Amino acid sequence: MTNRPVMLITGASRGIGAAVARAAAPTYDVLLDYAASSEAAHRLADELGAMGCRAEPVQADVGDEAQVLAMFDQLDTSFGRLDVLVNNAGIAGGYGTLDVVNGEMLARLWAVNITGAFICAREAAARMRTDRGGLGGSIVNISSKAAVLGGSGEWVYYAASKGALDTMTIGLSKELAAVGVRVNGVRPGLIESDFHLHAPPGRVERMAPIIPMQRSGTTDEVAPAVLWLASDAASYVTGTFIDVTGGR
Ligand code: NAP
Repeated sequence: MTNRPVMLITGASRGIGAAVARAAAPTYDVLLDYAASSEAAHRLADELGAMGCRAEPVQADVGDEAQVLAMFDQLDTSFGRLDVLVNNAGIAGGYGTLDVVNGEMLARLWAVNITGAFICAREAAARMRTDRGGLGGSIVNISSKAAVLGGSGEWVYYAASKGALDTMTIGLSKELAAVGVRVNGVRPGLIESDFHLHAPPGRVERMAPIIPMQRSGTTDEVAPAVLWLASDAASYVTGTFIDVTGGR
């Protein structure tokens, strides 16, 4: 078993997940989940390794329960403990309005953004809860301000998936509070990342003026909120959310 606390970050190869991994590296050893970006995940693991962090990439589509179970097997074998789960992996589900919705696309969206987060939370809690021999721990769910706003006249299905994630955060925080597992959420606003490649070009620039701070945010501005909620500094904080939105 490693001596340093261990953080599992889903969707850690790029964007917000990679920024969380970089911010975590001085304190945590990390398991870096990715779906397809093997090269990026391995490059990140090398970068974090050079900082003295034990970082291991793992390929697992969180929308596939068998792959999630294999990921947790790798966690047990390689690290032997878990202190923090960051449920970050998420997809947009294509881009558009109600016209583009169909059953297949919604099923995949729910599978990754909701079911994946639930299964990861189940496996993490089973290892962390103090009534089953765990040491306690923390789950941080990466939601979106869209969960509250309902999207922006588009991407409503994506917003709805994050609404479900927020309900899960509140409910699990109560279910797991007495067994030493805190559950919180971070709701980013408009953050520069590949996520917006799913939208027509220029979306970030077009939306920036409606944000009170008049600009998009960076992944590095999201990561500290995740690290704080995960840390002992937030030991009396559960079932709550930090909005990282520039005031939106
Ligand atoms: P991103 O740059 O597109 O990165 C997405 C990450 O998730 C990648 O590492 C990707 O892995 C991984 N991923 C996607 N599908 C996966 C799956 N089925 N299984 C495992 N990993 C998967 O997006 P991001 O902006 O960093 O978004 C991260 C989270 O923040 C998401 O939950 C998103 O909904 C949320 N968020 C983003 C914004 C924003 O404006 N960017 C705002 C609010 C909330 P591969 O590289 O292998 O594909």
